Amino acid sequence: MRTFTTRDGSIWMPSYLTFIDSKTCIGCGRCFKVCSRDVMHLHGVNDAGEILGPCDDEDDDFDGELNRMIMVVDDAGRCIGCGACGRVCPKNCQTHVAADELAT
Ligand code: SF4
Ligand code: SF4
Repeated sequence: MRTFTTRDGSIWMPSYLTFIDSKTCIGCGRCFKVCSRDVMHLHGVNDAGEILGPCDDEDDDFDGELNRMIMVVDDAGRCIGCGACGRVCPKNCQTHVAADELAT
């Protein structure tokens, strides 16, 4: 088992963000704002629930297809497991997994 520590040598177990439930996410962006690691981004979703792509421009309506926006974990490997995103999520739609439970 790998051991992680904080700066003072205390044992620290990272809890990595692995998944955001697209059905319950409201695309509020709070998790994005607190994350320093560029792990997730807002994506557009159409009426059928299909992901249209990343919302690079706030005014992009994907040619009228946009129904709502959700947050998508599109670079999970950059996560350091700080847990900040989970603490600010108002919908409890994130899944975090402890580092020692994830296959490397
Ligand atoms: S756990 Fe920390 S590093 Fe990982 S996605 Fe959330 S805020 Fe970013
Ligand atoms: S904080 Fe929660 S509800 Fe808001 S965008 Fe992130 S995952 Fe979705």
